[in-house]
Amino acid sequence: MSEFKHAMIDIETLGNQSRSAISQISVVEFDLETGDTGREFDINVDIKDCVHQGLEMNVDTVMWWMKQSKEARAKFEETERYSLDRSLELLSNYISNSGIQNVWGNSARFDLGILSDAYNTVGREIPWDFRNELDVRTLVFFKPEVKDNCTFIGTPHDAIDDCKHQIRYCSLIWKLMNNG
Ligand SMILES: [Mg+2]
Repeated sequence: MSEFKHAMIDIETLGNQSRSAISQISVVEFDLETGDTGREFDINVDIKDCVHQGLEMNVDTVMWWMKQSKEARAKFEETERYSLDRSLELLSNYISNSGIQNVWGNSARFDLGILSDAYNTVGREIPWDFRNELDVRTLVFFKPEVKDNCTFIGTPHDAIDDCKHQIRYCSLIWKLMNNG
């Protein structure tokens, strides 16, 4: 079991409403005080299977994806993808084999909410307590300039890179708030 108590979760979706189809799920364990990171979880989800299970795609989101970078769109061409049920089983295993106490989303309502919808859709138990959800946007509200000045490393909208970026500025904000 790892020592990290926080997990940054980012999902990529084909919609921006509740019950949206999911294309990628990424998680990175981290230490909020130091910004150190631990184990990573990163999988592509079978979008067609999401829709078969009753999750939804949204035209505006699909149009938005078409305007994103070649690197971000390339994720959709990756052929190794898991069914929604298997994806969530793997995510549950990852979380239960960790020391994770708090899960973060940007916002919590979006990433963690859509994931919760997906868990409900396949009839699996959500592997965290809703009381332990924390929100990236709330932290950014206190020090927006830190996020604005944080250089992105990697590909925006590749969920694993988004997780690491969010961890970098959240831990910087945390440090600033705790050192006056
Ligand atoms: Mg993202």
